[in-house]
Amino acid sequence: MTKTAHHNAGLAARDLSVVWHPCTQMKDHEQLPMIPIRRGEGVWLEDFDGKRYLDAISSWWVNLFGHCNPHINAALKTQLDTLEHAIFAGFTHETAIELSEQLGKLTPPGLERCFYADNGSSAVEVALKMSFHYWLNQGQKQKTKFITLENSYHGETLGALAVGNVELYRDTYGPLLMDTIQVPSPDCYRREAGESCADYSERLFRHMEQALERHSHEVCAVIVEPLVQCAGSMRMYDPVYLTLLREACDRHGVHLIADEVAVGFGRTGTLFACEQAAVSPDFLCLSKGLTGGYLPLSVVVTTDPVYQAFYDDYRNMTAFLHSHSYTGNALACRAALATLELFEQNDTLAHNRTLADSMARATQHFRDHPNVAEVRQTGMILAVELVQDRASRQPFPWQERRGLRVYRYGLANGMLLRPLGNVVYFMPPYVITEAEIAHMTRVAWEGIQLAVSG
Ligand code: PMP
Repeated sequence: MTKTAHHNAGLAARDLSVVWHPCTQMKDHEQLPMIPIRRGEGVWLEDFDGKRYLDAISSWWVNLFGHCNPHINAALKTQLDTLEHAIFAGFTHETAIELSEQLGKLTPPGLERCFYADNGSSAVEVALKMSFHYWLNQGQKQKTKFITLENSYHGETLGALAVGNVELYRDTYGPLLMDTIQVPSPDCYRREAGESCADYSERLFRHMEQALERHSHEVCAVIVEPLVQCAGSMRMYDPVYLTLLREACDRHGVHLIADEVAVGFGRTGTLFACEQAAVSPDFLCLSKGLTGGYLPLSVVVTTDPVYQAFYDDYRNMTAFLHSHSYTGNALACRAALATLELFEQNDTLAHNRTLADSMARATQHFRDHPNVAEVRQTGMILAVELVQDRASRQPFPWQERRGLRVYRYGLANGMLLRPLGNVVYFMPPYVITEAEIAHMTRVAWEGIQLAVSG
């Protein structure tokens, strides 16, 4: 028996009396509606009053092939009647084996060993611990630190938060976090007028080189979000930085951790962002799109040399004893395999090039808006930086919450946009149509007009 009729207001009231939502000042919901979703289909989410919202941000960047995708649904139904989950220590199952084989083939050369966890932050924790432990097993006890980029984001658990650098999430917990070595970001928004993104990224690399020169003896790894610092306002940089970084990490005897939790699986135009620099990291962290947005799963794909450094007699105590209860969950692995099948069946990367061009065309006029400092794009990620004044790039005070106005306008007009501060962005599922791109950018444009006035 339901306690309230199934409409938005009743469910929202029930929710707000018992649920604590992520990344939310719950008091905001005294003004802001909580939206209960009844069903999803393709790029659309539908609430309990029958209103539809175009999911322009892929539900926090996870959804790739639309909500309730028939192919993934069917695969999951079959899996459900076969095996839902089994302990993954001492036991295995074919779904996880097949997924690991596939990931070994699809990820950059040399990455061939999969360690599973169940969310992006946990994957980052695994990579950090594995890197540290690798050096320990090699007798290099002094390597205990990590180099990170300013404005980076790697998740919310304490280790992941420590290597991240977005103040909003990090500062409160500062006293709890391990020390890291932070290096200026190659973020191309900061380049000089007339300077190319590649030149700027290359120029900024000298800070990384200096940090490595100074600290490599005590550093386990450098961790980066390849090409796009997503939670850090979708700031972007050139692949040349990754090429230089790989070479420098090798030269200085330091691991490279590529956190492709957000950018993996085609978001940047290639299946993995690292491909654009033709580099293989020592650890590749994947989650979000891994299951097409269906189920929590993450994986760290690493190299044989790393694996071998842990492979020894038990009594030598070199094993990686990290574990999560849901490691290698069979349903999640099945969703991941079905997602990879869709990439192949639909020639998704080629199709996305057309979609990315449409997004660029549909936002062409945004570039001339007096409150738009920059429209930047890497593949299927397009971001619009709103400012008080285009010439000086003076930002709007954060207290004004201009982005929230865009969010509200979007909701009122059937669109889920969730600006990061004053940056409005699009990261839609790959099943979006040309007409839906036109609609999405039109609503965003109107929302921006409203948000910057007055
Ligand atoms: N790394 C990156 C680059 C991310 O964008 C995120 C999530 N936005 C995470 C890690 C953390 O993933 P999760 O939210 O699944 O813990």
